[in-house]
Amino acid sequence: MKPLRVQVAEVARQLHASGWVANHDGNVTARDGARFLATPTATSKRLVGERDLIEVDARGQVQGRGKVFGEIGLHLVVYERRPDVGCVVHAHPPCATAISASRGNPIERPFIAEAVVSLGPRIPKLPYAQPGDAARAALAPWCELVDAVLLGNHGAIAWGADPEQALLRLELVEHLARIAIAAQPLGGLEPLPDAAIAPLLAARAKAGIGRAADRAVATAPELLELLGEPRPVVACAPAPHSPVPTIAPGGAPRGSPSELATVVREEIVRALRKQS
Ligand SMILES: [Zn+2]
Repeated sequence: MKPLRVQVAEVARQLHASGWVANHDGNVTARDGARFLATPTATSKRLVGERDLIEVDARGQVQGRGKVFGEIGLHLVVYERRPDVGCVVHAHPPCATAISASRGNPIERPFIAEAVVSLGPRIPKLPYAQPGDAARAALAPWCELVDAVLLGNHGAIAWGADPEQALLRLELVEHLARIAIAAQPLGGLEPLPDAAIAPLLAARAKAGIGRAADRAVATAPELLELLGEPRPVVACAPAPHSPVPTIAPGGAPRGSPSELATVVREEIVRALRKQS
C-alpha cells in the first residue's frame, strides 16, 4: 500500500489528467489520524506532489506551513458526519458541472443499478452557496445518506473510505452525467422503477458501502424530507382523499423510505446470521 500522501497527490494529479479541473480548481483531502492532509490552495492539480500537501486540524486550522483552500468546510463536514470516510474529492468535471449549472437534475433519481449501490438512493443537487457556513449547512444532512452530491452552479463532491474509492465515485458521477446528456436527444432518461431500489440498497448495505442503511431507520422523518416525499402524519386511520401518507402510532408507512430501510435492516440481520 502506498503512503497516504502519495495516494492523495496521485488523485489530485488524476483530476487534472481527467480534464475535471482547470486553473487552480478542485481539492482533495484525506483523514490521517486526528488531522487531515489537504491539497494546497492556488496550485494547479497537475503540479501537486506529496511534499506540497498541507495538514489541517478538524476546525480547518493549518498545522505547520501552507494555506488551506476556501472549500475546506465542505470536506470537514463530511468527516464530521461520516467516521467511515477517509477521503473527500471535489472537482468541476464538465458534464456533472453542466448539470449542476442547468435547470433540473436528470441524474438525481437512479437509472442504472450500479449508481444506487455505489452512491446511494439519490444524487442530490444542492442550491448554489458561497464557500463557508451556508455551503456546509446545505451539505451536512446529505452526508450520511449518499456518497456524492452535485453543488449547484459549481461542480461535484464525492467521498469514500480511501482516495481510490472517492475518486471512483466522482468518476461514476461524471459518467452518469455524460449518459444523461447523451440520453437527452433520445427523449431523456427513464429512472429505475421504485421497486428496484430496495434490493439495491440492501446490496449496498450488505457490501458495507455508505452509512445510509444503518442510519435510515433512526432518521426516517429527516430522510423523507430530504428525498422530497410528503412527511407522513401519525394517525389511527388514513384521512380519505388526503395525499399526505399516514403512519400508525409506532409504525412505518408502506412503500416509504423508512419501510425500505426496514427491508435493508432485515437483509443485514440475515447476512449476519449467515456469517455466525
Ligand atoms: Zn470548486
